[in-house]
Amino acid sequence: MVGRLADGTMPALAETLIRANNCAHPVRLIGRSHTVDRLTGEIVDTFRSIDEPMGRLYKPCGNRRESACPACSRIYARDTFELISTGLHGGKGVPAAVNANPLLFVTLTAPSFGPVHGVREGKQPCHPRMRLAMCPHGRRMACWAQHDAGDPRVGAPLCRDCYDTESAIVWQWHAPELWRRFTIALRRQLAVGLGVRDRDLNDHARLEYAKVAEFQARGLVHFHALVRLDGPDGPGSPAPLAAAAVEAAVRKAVDVVHCTVTPLDDADFERTLRFGAQTDVRVVRNGFAIGDEITTEQVAAYLAKYSTKSADVDPRRPIPHLVWLSDACRGLATRALAGCRFGCDERAGERHPHLCGNCAQSPYALLGRWAAMLGFRGHFSTKSRHYSVTLGALRRARRRFQGLAVDARHHAERLDTRELEARLMADDADTTLVIGSWTYDGSGWPRAGDKALADAAASRAREYAKWRADQRTNHPARQPKGRS
Ligand SMILES: [Zn+2]
Ligand SMILES: [Zn+2]
Ligand SMILES: [Zn+2]
Ligand SMILES: [Zn+2]
Repeated sequence: MVGRLADGTMPALAETLIRANNCAHPVRLIGRSHTVDRLTGEIVDTFRSIDEPMGRLYKPCGNRRESACPACSRIYARDTFELISTGLHGGKGVPAAVNANPLLFVTLTAPSFGPVHGVREGKQPCHPRMRLAMCPHGRRMACWAQHDAGDPRVGAPLCRDCYDTESAIVWQWHAPELWRRFTIALRRQLAVGLGVRDRDLNDHARLEYAKVAEFQARGLVHFHALVRLDGPDGPGSPAPLAAAAVEAAVRKAVDVVHCTVTPLDDADFERTLRFGAQTDVRVVRNGFAIGDEITTEQVAAYLAKYSTKSADVDPRRPIPHLVWLSDACRGLATRALAGCRFGCDERAGERHPHLCGNCAQSPYALLGRWAAMLGFRGHFSTKSRHYSVTLGALRRARRRFQGLAVDARHHAERLDTRELEARLMADDADTTLVIGSWTYDGSGWPRAGDKALADAAASRAREYAKWRADQRTNHPARQPKGRS
């Protein structure tokens, strides 16, 4: 910063940081682009990197992992929040009548693979046991500590040797498939509820959902899903079933869904995977909630909080039992490929292992590559097609907004907010075309201090977002059950 102040380049950096959204590793591009009117072929605007404050176009990296880029991962989390909450309240082109239809907040957890340290309600001790209970490894199966959420022991097994690590990792590895089968089972149950054939379901009702995956303290994901039933004409059209019937269908689907998976090796056994017993299904109400129900406000507050959490295991703050789990993933990958005469097992823990044709067929061949994610290879957020808006539409809207804001600044005009949203979310019959020629100049900031400033600004923004999410949760809402 002192250097930048001394040579007078600080304002240019500050401006560039804003334009790059404080990205930690922006891509540097050199070139130009022309905006052409499709009808007349006339060039209406030209953008050149040489005119930028630092002589280059700094394009945000767009990484979703918080440890890779705090700023870009925040934008991803915020977009995820937006697309989930527009399915709750409508907005951004989604009809406001969406929330008249049955809506459920479903939490699907992993089963238990052995006792772990945990935060107990009302400052209760972790595993209180008077008798001197010992496991076969000579460890005490009791813990009288009152852990708080920040305690790194929370989520760690009481005995690592008793904990069924293999099954835990195999479960996590197949969790995306288990989720997929759940959506199929749910459609089937809804068809049963309506007395129609599976394949005719879409003629009577549309199942829409959005789900996010969240790591619990024990290093296993659980899924939070918003499940909505619309009428046959999509969002806003009245559903043919009441919330209670949809809830029954969800519970039945969770009950029946399972997935039988291949053993790791000859010494291992076949497993049938299911969701854990702590499945939580709540009816979401607009306005007042009765009994176990929750309100759209509470769900939105919970998801806002989720969107400020990081979606990966942060290598800068290693938690011992998570490091151990990620080593276990590499170990199991090695075990699954053991005995290969081309030595694939020795490379199994690498990020991009070169495997022989035979080993590449193993369902666990790439487990080592996902070790940093503790074997979870799924997406952190997915949604059905017509749940709400798409991430692409939100990105396009942000780009358009930046363009409009620049225009407004240049022409010293005010932005007309009345029709702004409609313009931003418009599905594109764009009358202009952008033609560019760009070359890659490198990535990252030119000086180490620049990155420090970007990181500092990003972390301030993150703290602010966290604070706001806390304000919302502490306000009228109670946090839904099913958190770790
Ligand atoms: Zn970035
Ligand atoms: Zn404990
Ligand atoms: Zn033990
Ligand atoms: Zn091999």
